[in-house]
Amino acid sequence: MRLLVVEDEVRICELIGESLKRAGFVVDAVGSLGDAELAQLGAPYAVVVLDLGMPDGDGLSLLENLRRAPDRPPVLVLTARDSVEDRVAGLDAGADDYLIKPFAMIEVVARVKALLRRPGGALGLRLEAGNVSLDTVGRDVKVMDVVLPLPRQELAILEFLMRRLGRVVPKAVLEEKLYGMGDELGSNAIPVHVHHLRRKLSEAAATCEIHTVRGIGYFLQEGQ
Ligand code: CA
Repeated sequence: MRLLVVEDEVRICELIGESLKRAGFVVDAVGSLGDAELAQLGAPYAVVVLDLGMPDGDGLSLLENLRRAPDRPPVLVLTARDSVEDRVAGLDAGADDYLIKPFAMIEVVARVKALLRRPGGALGLRLEAGNVSLDTVGRDVKVMDVVLPLPRQELAILEFLMRRLGRVVPKAVLEEKLYGMGDELGSNAIPVHVHHLRRKLSEAAATCEIHTVRGIGYFLQEGQ
């Protein structure tokens, strides 16, 4: 499987490339957005790893172009910590996942593998986290095969968290998702929905838990 790494810092680019190669991938590495555009003209990539701070422009522009491609590859975005908060909403427009620098190489490999495993969003799918399962077509949630009734907003939040199990989902992304469902959102809407969802999962003896990352968002973690 062929991957594209777009990163101008030579040492980081080499380390990422080496790690992915060791994991069995074929890797093309480029150090500018111009070269990335050219590289994409060849065989399609299974995943693109994209640094946002590039010498010849903002990586977000490449993300925009990738979005328009009919069979666009999943994109793992790399970004500096100081720019993450104002970028997360924008990132969600086209990025499938992101990593904040500095990160461990093992993490890049894990994220890339997760993107490859992820089923297409439109496909019918049963998501699982601990003893909780969610049918994305039937729109029902079960805890140990017992149906857990949830309002659609809480179900939507849970689905998002399950699709990104173990990874932080920014609050802004959840707000956008609910806003897209036609909801009027007060500033406290997401925390209130998450609060209810947490309580219901706990009362149903779910073995997964929603954690809060203060100022950023939430993630779902499987328990024992
Ligand atoms: Ca850079």
